[in-house]
Amino acid sequence: MHLVPGVLVRHDPPRGVAPVPVVFDSPHSGRVYPDDFGAVLPVSALRGAEDAFVEELFSAAPEHGAVLLAALFPRSYIDGNRAPDDIDPRLIEGEWPAPLKPGPKSDLGIGLIRRAVVPGLFVYDRRLTVAEVERRIARYWRRYHAALKGALDRAHRAHGAVWHIDCHSMKSVANGMTPDAAGTRRRDIVLGDRDGTSCEPGFTRLVKETLERFGFDVAVNDPYKGAEIVRRYGDPATGRHSLQVEIRRDLFMNEAVHVRNEGFARVQAAMGDLAAAVCDYARARSRALG
Ligand SMILES: [Zn+2]
Repeated sequence: MHLVPGVLVRHDPPRGVAPVPVVFDSPHSGRVYPDDFGAVLPVSALRGAEDAFVEELFSAAPEHGAVLLAALFPRSYIDGNRAPDDIDPRLIEGEWPAPLKPGPKSDLGIGLIRRAVVPGLFVYDRRLTVAEVERRIARYWRRYHAALKGALDRAHRAHGAVWHIDCHSMKSVANGMTPDAAGTRRRDIVLGDRDGTSCEPGFTRLVKETLERFGFDVAVNDPYKGAEIVRRYGDPATGRHSLQVEIRRDLFMNEAVHVRNEGFARVQAAMGDLAAAVCDYARARSRALG
């Protein structure tokens, strides 16, 4: 285990398990709230932004030969699944020293720095200084991405290809800060491969069919197509395959009080079995390529 306190934890395959070129990462499940957050909301409210327990759902992945990386910092503090320039300038005190590129996520209030947890529930009653946002980027965002890129590069170097699953959860019902219409009830699981550009189609198909066999109702690229992490690291032409997975929260937790529910064990077992299937796939594919 590799631990950077408050920032990230990486679990490698245990001794005796042969490494497979597969990486799982959970960028939004962190719940170590930094002292310098300066939010106006209590942690109990900020927790609504977490992808709580997602790293636990995939905790069996290393036993099958994969690396599992998880952020420890909360997504409401700085979001690892956004570009570092996807910042709403209205959240910043003064002038950002470089051009900013606020995208559709910033428009929804969920850019690199989050405006609200849910519509109307604002994180701050102030603007953030350039220095504090730069510090968050350097201490958290860059270190998380360095760890993720390092794990992907090591696997790719050793096996000639890498298969990566970027793990998330989604609210069970859409609201005014989501890409789909408020009130929409979500499918069980949404896979995002950026309309077929972040991984080979066979990988999306394998994950979809495996999850369907376990009894889940699976959508692809609707309403979530995959965000910054799979955009940044997926490059199927060079053997880098990244797929985003969103699991509906009420399948495994009580969203109102942030505790696991009676479905947790079933979903966790299914994600362990999914990890085994992905590792089998990667083992066979990398052998065929080598
Ligand atoms: Zn997420």
